[in-house]
Amino acid sequence: MPEQRDYYEVLGVSKTASPDEIKSAYRTLAKKYHPDVSTESKEVAEAKFKEISEAYEVLSDAEKRQTYDKYGHAGVNSQFSNGGFSWDDFTHGDDINDIFGDIFGGIFGGGRRQGRSRSNSPATGESLAYNMQITLEDVLNGKTVEISVPHSATCPDCKGTGGKDGKVERCTQCNGQGQVQNVTRTPFGNMMSVSDCPRCHGTGRMATEKCLKCHGTGRNNITSKISINIPKGIDDGARIRVAGAGDAGYNGGSAGDLYVVISVKENKAFERDGINLWSEVTTTYSRLVLGGEESIKTLDGETISVSIPAGTQIGGVLRISGKGLPKLNQSVRGNLYARVRMDIPTKPTALEKELLAKLDGEAGKKTSAKKSKLRSKLADMK
Ligand SMILES: [Zn+2]
Ligand SMILES: [Zn+2]
Repeated sequence: MPEQRDYYEVLGVSKTASPDEIKSAYRTLAKKYHPDVSTESKEVAEAKFKEISEAYEVLSDAEKRQTYDKYGHAGVNSQFSNGGFSWDDFTHGDDINDIFGDIFGGIFGGGRRQGRSRSNSPATGESLAYNMQITLEDVLNGKTVEISVPHSATCPDCKGTGGKDGKVERCTQCNGQGQVQNVTRTPFGNMMSVSDCPRCHGTGRMATEKCLKCHGTGRNNITSKISINIPKGIDDGARIRVAGAGDAGYNGGSAGDLYVVISVKENKAFERDGINLWSEVTTTYSRLVLGGEESIKTLDGETISVSIPAGTQIGGVLRISGKGLPKLNQSVRGNLYARVRMDIPTKPTALEKELLAKLDGEAGKKTSAKKSKLRSKLADMK
């Protein structure tokens, strides 16, 4: 196992950081490395997320932090299982839900749903996130993609009631209240507590005969095909919301939403800078000196000719207007900027060699003329 990094170092805070500072550092990192939004590979992102979550788990708890400060990793390690990491291992799931809002509810929902108190009041279903990679060409042209989204849906046979043919009756154990009172005898007297009815799970209703399609749960796991319209000019990291395409609601509540999170793949030839694009154009020494034409590919896939002005320097920038990316949902386009590079022939022909030698002689004359001028100047100064 690789050596564990210091928890303070992992979160990038000082040893004297306040709980607020720790929380804020964790929020920032958790947003960056959450495996469902991170641009890193799944393995890397998961490892990072696990590392920062562990660090936060310890440093956000005053007692654990004290133990860690005293004994280091050895003091707190036993609290984490080796490997077998799951989102539900962490007690600060609420912070996570807080950070990501309901956007990632579906991801953390597995653990949350079981612990969810199912009162009889309607509740919105979990929202889901779907990661979609698109190309820079897609940003230019926009496109419509059909995606398959697994989610839960209200059972059509029982209309979500869980009873065969939709038949449900008042729960006999809680008399339809959904909650039961528990009495515990203690040396100090009887303690009363209220909890969800174990028979109807807090719904107040029960099915004498369970629906066969959903086995009495009122919901089924299905996969829906959803058509997503990706607008021209969309930003990397943008989220497209599809209302009601998430998990089914509870007790007649509405379904959650689906969020499609866009990540734009790197392009080998073009770099994006807002609505502008950057690329390179390669030319020769003679064209840089004398001026000339070069051809350059645009993201549209066409090859166009650009003129190199006489005296252009290596690293100079040519502007091809209107060949950048569109503004979001508009036809206005940014520019393409091409950085000038020079092609040095590695196997010059005999004629090239001869001409270059002549050129070198000519350039040599210029520099020696400069040198002799400099020498005479220096001599004058003495
Ligand atoms: Zn059903
Ligand atoms: Zn009940």
